[in-house]
Amino acid sequence: MSEAVQAKIAAAADLIEAAKRVVVFTGAGISTESGIPDFRSPGGIWSKFDPREFTFQRFIESEEARATTWKMGLEMIKMLTAAKPNPAHHAVVALEKAGKLACLITQNIDGLHQRAGTSEDLVVELHGTALYIKCLDCGKRYEREPIDKRVADGDLSPRCDDCNGLLKSATISFGQSMPQAEMERSYQQSENCDLFIVIGSSLVVQPAASMPLIAKRNGAALIIINRDPTQFDRLADVVINASAGETMDRIVSELGL
Ligand code: NAD
Ligand code: ZN
Repeated sequence: MSEAVQAKIAAAADLIEAAKRVVVFTGAGISTESGIPDFRSPGGIWSKFDPREFTFQRFIESEEARATTWKMGLEMIKMLTAAKPNPAHHAVVALEKAGKLACLITQNIDGLHQRAGTSEDLVVELHGTALYIKCLDCGKRYEREPIDKRVADGDLSPRCDDCNGLLKSATISFGQSMPQAEMERSYQQSENCDLFIVIGSSLVVQPAASMPLIAKRNGAALIIINRDPTQFDRLADVVINASAGETMDRIVSELGL
């Protein structure tokens, strides 16, 4: 690691040391080192199926779209459950143990933060979770396994046992409205933190693209750790364009956590 990067690691550690209410914001990039590709990586499930073709509208309207979506879901869940949290997920747990973490906002649907040990009540899943199934009509939540079994046995448009509504993975699809409570909590936490740390997000989709700005406007410091540059790099106090796992691991070591 170069001297310049080492200096940035030390600067990030100093900001965390000084902070009392840290909000960590994560995107697909924190999970690529766990073997889950982001939208921009070649290979893997997202190159076989383009998730943007599976809009919410099509899911509702077309039995064929539902069938393809459920087949994709079966493949995706295999990949997600085989993945393991990496050092970046563990570093976020270390921040919580040090009493620094006010909230973890994630766009990820893979559940890896909770599996690493981040407390459930500190996690806001902005795009839902692939680990559960939900009825689109009554909201009843189902474990994934029994529904996946129905799908594997040929029911490619499974319906709710209670109300006969359409079942869908508990993720937010393209075109589906964002979850209200999660959105409000994220904005509120972003406004009230004193340090906002982005890890592995391109910060191009909303509301990801507004939260670092809100934090910064309200006086928080901003750290961005992302392999590629983002539109907010010029606003950040520290920008580290490197691997999330190695960088976060070094930051928490620097802090003695
Ligand atoms: P994105 O694909 O737009 O951007 C990911 C960013 O992470 C990129 O800018 C890339 O440079 C960076 N990155 C990739 N690997 C990295 C690494 N090892 N270390 C540091 N940076 C790394 O993802 P996004 O910003 O999360 O937004 C797109 C959408 O993708 C979100 O809605 C999210 O729900 C969905 N998604 C989630 C998962 C998941 O749950 N793991 C996987 C794929 C996509
Ligand atoms: Zn129902």
